[in-house]
Amino acid sequence: MSSKAAAKRAAELRESINHHDHQYYVLDQPEVTDAEYDELFRELRELEEADPGLSTPDSPTQRVGGVPLEKFGQIEHADPMLSLANARNEEELRAWADRVARGLERLDLAAATIRYVTEPKIDGLAISLTYEDGVLAHGATRGDGRTGEDVTQNLKTIKSIPLSFPDAPPLIEVRGEIYLPLADFGRLNESRSEQGEPVFANPRNAAAGSIRQLDPAVAASRPLSMWTYGVGRLEGAEFGSHSESLAWLAERGFRVNQDVQTHEGIDEVATRCDWWSERRDELDFEIDGVVIKVDDRSLQRELGVAGREPRWAIAWKFAPTTATTTLKEVVWNVGRTGHLVPFAMLEPVHVGGVTVSTATLHNEEDLERKDVRNGDEVVVLRAGDVIPQVVSHVPGKRRKGARKPKPPSKCPACGTATVKPDDAVFTICPNSSGCPGQVFQHLKHFRQAMEIDGLGEKNLERFLDQGLITDAADLYSLEAPQIAGIEGFAEKSAEVLTNEIDASRRQPFGKVLYALGIRGVGEVNAQSLAEHFGSIAALQAAQPEQVQEADGIGPILAEQVVEELAEDRAIELVDRLGRAGLRFELDPSERRSTEGPLAGKTVVLTGTLPELSREEATKMIRLAGGKVTGSVSKKTDFVVAGENPGSKLAKAEGCEVAVLDEAALRKLLGT
Ligand code: NAD
Repeated sequence: MSSKAAAKRAAELRESINHHDHQYYVLDQPEVTDAEYDELFRELRELEEADPGLSTPDSPTQRVGGVPLEKFGQIEHADPMLSLANARNEEELRAWADRVARGLERLDLAAATIRYVTEPKIDGLAISLTYEDGVLAHGATRGDGRTGEDVTQNLKTIKSIPLSFPDAPPLIEVRGEIYLPLADFGRLNESRSEQGEPVFANPRNAAAGSIRQLDPAVAASRPLSMWTYGVGRLEGAEFGSHSESLAWLAERGFRVNQDVQTHEGIDEVATRCDWWSERRDELDFEIDGVVIKVDDRSLQRELGVAGREPRWAIAWKFAPTTATTTLKEVVWNVGRTGHLVPFAMLEPVHVGGVTVSTATLHNEEDLERKDVRNGDEVVVLRAGDVIPQVVSHVPGKRRKGARKPKPPSKCPACGTATVKPDDAVFTICPNSSGCPGQVFQHLKHFRQAMEIDGLGEKNLERFLDQGLITDAADLYSLEAPQIAGIEGFAEKSAEVLTNEIDASRRQPFGKVLYALGIRGVGEVNAQSLAEHFGSIAALQAAQPEQVQEADGIGPILAEQVVEELAEDRAIELVDRLGRAGLRFELDPSERRSTEGPLAGKTVVLTGTLPELSREEATKMIRLAGGKVTGSVSKKTDFVVAGENPGSKLAKAEGCEVAVLDEAALRKLLGT
């Protein structure tokens, strides 16, 4: 390439990367896949390396991340938060190890073998937490690496972040990655989709979008978590190695991944990277690679930093979980509450280890927002076990005259004319009780909510086809001999299934309420409504203003709950399920007493108690007015610890929370 052409291309790449950085870091709305972005970045870097004169001070290769948002206060990082160089394969990993070895030789620090640490590269949002005398003083995003956004209030809502811890130096900056577990990401998008809200493109954007909210209640409502992976500025203490610092943090209640390992030499590192790559799909959080760090902190200091990346660490990046392909056609299904759901028929594409030919487009509004059209080039994401989804279309590649897909005028399942009420965001099939598509989707939801695992999709289809069931209530009058004759069943398996259905009658009221499938009422909201109202009768009699008084229920959802429960179909289903013996009242053991020795107190259970099972202890605490929560924070009043208590005990001590054993708990409860 001539130098003129190279300069032109470098300028183009800078402009394009700047645009994508803004979409990704500032708006949390990437338009291209990470792999495509990485390619642009690599090309620019190679051009700049070949001709250093092409590198401008404002080149993306010279800086980290994006500009911090002005709506937040700004926090200057005591030590810059850097990016990481990356390796795409073993060859590039070994080339890095050679550079490290040569660097150390030049410093007269050559070692026979170098010790490395391998850690999962969590695909979330980097966070810095500054503790002064062991108390969390503030927390910030990475921002542009030098200055981050002050998101302290939001971070304080995350239970895995200690607000204080014991035995701390005067100043320590703890670094980690905030992420949203995959299952919660799926649920969050499902509920946003049902509410007609835009869905998040991937778990990383969901985590970043949740933390960079002005209202801490939003962050608090999302089950965010943190993996801790390092120490930044440190005063009044020192660690010999990175692994030592992680162990020290874990002892003080920080969440450190238990699969972090140290290795002697790069061969072991390469084997471990393959191990992580194979485990990737089993994890309940998204990782996009493995981070490899030189363990010795003094060697890290000696190796130093090159531009925006430390020389002592590298990220081995996995094959991408996103890919681009052609959208052949948008087709429509009907959801359990009657709204029409678009999904994409794709030109098959290999992504995240499997071939994908269909992907969800969530809902009508999401389709409109993404402006995806038949024939478009689209970006498809497949993360973990979450259903593949179309993230966006690739700008600039649209065919002339490509039309916007429209919802069909007739329901694809029952042929009834569809309707879109004036103020609604969704087109619906109004045939709520007779549409087989809606019945099937509701049954799928019901069996998942009631944990009837033996009732797979195929079986549901068969039961519907044979006319054995027409709705969820019919499940409870199924008898083993009826099922035994159906394809896929023998006498024994039919009995197993009917026993399982029978056992689901004992599911608590909160679960039953969730199983009803009211739009926007997920597991957490259902439990909150169950606890607030105590019975379905009380909830059915409530006005929206009263429904809104339940924890976490906003005005729109409250209206929706009242409206849906008042529909004939819902009244009839509740009635029939009630007659089938399902629980429509909160069991006294589920209800928190307002009196009793633990009234208003929050208790955490940890370890194995000598006599009481966890369920028994939980029941006793609730009956005594206490609330049992999963993790220790400043709000915890007691921790009840048994054998092998784990990090919660250390954290309790850190937060100066009283710790009881089983005998002391019993004494307190007078049992
Ligand atoms: P990076 O994500 O490749 O690596 C650095 C980051 O890794 C750290 O800041 C930290 O947040 C994270 N990390 C996770 N686990 C870690 C661990 N155990 N130890 C240390 N750090 C860990 O680099 P980057 O500068 O944050 O972002 C660049 C990447 O972001 C690109 O490679 C690209 O994939 C993506 N990106 C995509 C777009 C897009 O439009 N699709 C735009 C910009 C950036």
